[in-house]
Amino acid sequence: MTETLGFDTRAVHAGSAPDPATGARQVPIYQTTAYVFRDADQAARLFGLQEVGYIYSRLTNPTISALQARVADLEGGAGAVCCSSGHAAQIMALFPLMAPGKNIVVSTRLYGGTVTQFSQTIKRFGWSAKFVDLDDLEAVRGAIDDNTQAIFCESISNPGGYLTDIPAIAAIADAAGLPLIVDNTLATPYLCRPIEMGATLVVHSLTKYMTGNGTVTGGAVVDSGRFDWSASGRFPSLSEPEPAYHGLKFQEALGPMAFTFHGIAIGLRDLGMTMNPQGAHYTLLGIETLGLRMPKHVANAQKIAEWLETDPRVSSVSYGGLASSPRAEVAARVYPKGAGALFTFSLTGGYDAAVKLVDNLKLFSHVANLGDARSLAIHSASTTHSQLTDAQKIAAGAGPDVVRLSIGIEDADDLIADLDQALAAASD
Ligand SMILES: *Cc1c(COP(=O)(O)O)cnc(C)c1O
Repeated sequence: MTETLGFDTRAVHAGSAPDPATGARQVPIYQTTAYVFRDADQAARLFGLQEVGYIYSRLTNPTISALQARVADLEGGAGAVCCSSGHAAQIMALFPLMAPGKNIVVSTRLYGGTVTQFSQTIKRFGWSAKFVDLDDLEAVRGAIDDNTQAIFCESISNPGGYLTDIPAIAAIADAAGLPLIVDNTLATPYLCRPIEMGATLVVHSLTKYMTGNGTVTGGAVVDSGRFDWSASGRFPSLSEPEPAYHGLKFQEALGPMAFTFHGIAIGLRDLGMTMNPQGAHYTLLGIETLGLRMPKHVANAQKIAEWLETDPRVSSVSYGGLASSPRAEVAARVYPKGAGALFTFSLTGGYDAAVKLVDNLKLFSHVANLGDARSLAIHSASTTHSQLTDAQKIAAGAGPDVVRLSIGIEDADDLIADLDQALAAASD
């Protein structure tokens, strides 16, 4: 959709038009596995990628196509592929780039599940990840070697409110001729548009703020369409004849849509991490209100973080939006619309107080999720991070005294009152 329209207009309209068959104004849920070909010639053209259309819903589906177009538009990308979860999106983003023996340079500050995926599971594909502190730009440069295929980071990162300096990391990726992949789940394109700052690919867990109401697991990979996959010979699956797709040279044949078509024609076809049409429909509904929800999430988080920071029962608050944050300069420069709505804080009463606080919250739900309209809390040390050593927990920002909050869109004063009563109960 045209870039001249505003963000909120595109959040409602991009990718959707009245249904050509029925005139239905909302995007219908196309709950179908397959699509009838007009004739044998059309079927052959569809299979040969000479014509774009619907074959089988593991690859393409009209409801999911509408969502792909909307997410690509909001991120300023050339195309997007939706898939079954945020974790699926990460594998889908890496798959065209990687081969046994290849590695990625990744931030040490990542979603816990991503740390496990990158440090353990991808090894079974013969891939590996080098974890680097992205504040140390020399270390990022130094970690890149001849087998490095990409740099991966989160924009706003889970759990400690860290804000990545995307332009600085994009400059390093650019100088090394590598794609930068940014997980934009916690920021959403409302708060941050990584492609405008030099990112090549953006991945999402649509499960979180994009859907926004805790009903869906879904993911997306957005491609900027700007990376030259043929420049270095490093990405043969995109630049050379691809044996998995009858020798098609994706970049030559499809230009800026090469990565997106590869994701559908090979990634979804062979990995099968497909989103379901009903999930795509809910996410389309959620995105319609993204521009209304995100400012409320951020304003609530800011108010609550500032309130907690002055409370004597609280020893520290890790929120990038605080004036006292070590990330305040990056917040102002890279995230001017806000530092998101997920942060952690520590209690002076330590582990016991943190557990008691979580048990006494009434409005906040104790769940392992984030980015819901409802406010959520979790004590990471006894749940998501319980398998780590104490030292690892502290390094991950999930020490024994730390509680993580995902601030919803309720009235901030009600949330503060709930935290106040739970802090009182926790310090008894
Ligand atoms: C939740 C999350 C993921 C994983 O997404 P799923 O949809 O749960 O697979 C990845 N990255 C971040 C930052 C997340 O918050």
